[in-house]
Amino acid sequence: MTDASEFEYIIVGAGSAGCVLANRLSANADARVCLIEAGPVDDTPWIDTPMGIIRLLRGKRYNWYYETTPQAALGNRKLYWPRGKTLGGSSSINAMIYMRGHPSDYDDWASAGNVGWAWRDVLPIFKLHERQQRGADELHGADGPLHVSDLAQPNPLSRTFVEAGIQAGLPPCKDFNGHSMEGVGLYQVTQREGKRWSAARAFLDPVRHRSNLTVLTDCLTTRVHIKDRRATGVRVRERGHERDLRARREVILCAGAINSPQLLMLSGVGPGRHLQDLSIPVVFDLPAVGCNLQDHLDVTTMARESTATAVGIGFGALPRLLRAFAEYRNHGTGMLASNAAEAGGFARTDTHLERPDVQFHFLPTLLRNHGRDLVWGYGYTLHVCQLRPQSRGRISLASPDPGMAPRIDPAYLSHPKDLGVLRAGLKLARRILASTAWARFGPCELAPGPAVQDDTELDAYIARNAETIYHPVGTCKMGSGDDAVVDRCLRIRGIEGLRVADASIMPRLIGGNTNAPSMMIGEMASRLVESDTALSRSAVQAPLVGLVG
Ligand SMILES: Cc1cc2nc3c(=O)[nH]c(=O)nc-3n(C[C@H](O)[C@H](O)[C@H](O)COP(=O)(O)OP(=O)(O)OC[C@H]3O[C@@H](n4cnc5c(N)ncnc54)[C@H](O)[C@@H]3O)c2cc1C
Repeated sequence: MTDASEFEYIIVGAGSAGCVLANRLSANADARVCLIEAGPVDDTPWIDTPMGIIRLLRGKRYNWYYETTPQAALGNRKLYWPRGKTLGGSSSINAMIYMRGHPSDYDDWASAGNVGWAWRDVLPIFKLHERQQRGADELHGADGPLHVSDLAQPNPLSRTFVEAGIQAGLPPCKDFNGHSMEGVGLYQVTQREGKRWSAARAFLDPVRHRSNLTVLTDCLTTRVHIKDRRATGVRVRERGHERDLRARREVILCAGAINSPQLLMLSGVGPGRHLQDLSIPVVFDLPAVGCNLQDHLDVTTMARESTATAVGIGFGALPRLLRAFAEYRNHGTGMLASNAAEAGGFARTDTHLERPDVQFHFLPTLLRNHGRDLVWGYGYTLHVCQLRPQSRGRISLASPDPGMAPRIDPAYLSHPKDLGVLRAGLKLARRILASTAWARFGPCELAPGPAVQDDTELDAYIARNAETIYHPVGTCKMGSGDDAVVDRCLRIRGIEGLRVADASIMPRLIGGNTNAPSMMIGEMASRLVESDTALSRSAVQAPLVGLVG
């Protein structure tokens, strides 16, 4: 008889990577797989409807709603960090932009010693996942479970942004995942017929019926049990009750760049001194856990427009919204099918660079405080972020209580080179906003505004206004040195039967959005787990073969 609390594999976190992993590992009917998710099920129209993102970022039900420590370079502000807390994880609350990053990002990972992670290794995985609306070619797949679509009806302002970018000297780009990502264009989105297509829709829903797959929701993993340097299972908290689940083969952490290192530290794996300070027994002193935190720091420019083409709150907005509801219900199109960040692009702030170092996100609306503040009137927002910051932050524990948020210190702009790149990006964004392409909308710059002109004023503007664009990575770094947490097979150094597979393993932040890369990491992990299992089987069988032979 099978024990209901015993599994071959326990996966912690049903996010972008965890959903892929659960799909792949449960394809083997002999392996019992348990996928544990702290958040609730994802059965709300706010998730399926792309514009629902505005609601998701304002609420705490599907969102961890984190906050950073005060950031010295940003006027000691604490920054808001939303993260998905539901099936699909952050892919259920994100802006749906489909992006892989620059091929050289992965080649950099490989040349840092992570053999098997070069662009030529990961490209087949991106293609395997993709169901590209435009069809397959050498860089795209069309048969995978992840729907990648063009926006059905981008706002006219988004097309104007592309014109404006070209006028400002950037090339047009029709495919940011094609041969060159440089330039401006409309983004493709992970949507199917106007609905969000999260990792849960793509990878979990099709396999929920498998009898060997158990999915637990509203279930917080509070620690990994480790005995004699081997992970044996996890402790979970469900509706106030604690219980233990046993893993016969492996525990795999897919809890994301904030919670995977938190969970390791709660389990006694992390910087020894820090754990001792919190009276957590040290199981394995691994100082790198939680370090190497990197994120895309972003700053916005904004302009008002006088034609009410933008999505906004103003006179006439209510009938427009009612029409939008009807259109979305009947056809799955219109304003509610928009992912908000409809257009954007990549640029080099210095022509000597070999690849873009800043990214734009254009929204045909006035956006303040992640959409949490309502802004009266019509206008548009152009974001710019630095792609490969050199600043490094850290996740640490604020408390040994698993129910408490960890301490998040991204140490934004702590490296002296980062501010200059962001400032150069801001100047470029402003040049795009000043282009004559906008003339027919009667534009008027709202931010930074006429008072902000020289570098000192721009730097002060950045310090007052910069925010995250939601791509934290790196806190369980993959590598071979002392600064690494996992090896290139994603195994925790020093502990058997324990891996990490999510955005936290990225040794270096990629130059693009991080959802598709996180799903790629989930796929890679499934292959590494399976090949280790096959190896250990053949090791057991080898002596028998020898005997028989
Ligand atoms: C607002 C927002 C907008 C974004 N926009 C885009 C975009 O447009 N395009 C893009 O490519 N990327 C975007 N991203 C980033 C992208 O979505 C993430 O990088 C990616 O989803 C991370 O995947 P992950 O698997 O590492 O973690 P996640 O998807 O965050 O999954 C982690 C999961 O683990 C669960 N979990 C955590 N701790 C525990 C625990 N102790 N027990 C049980 N479960 C636990 C969480 O609830 C969550 O479901 C955005 C992110 C956000 C927040």
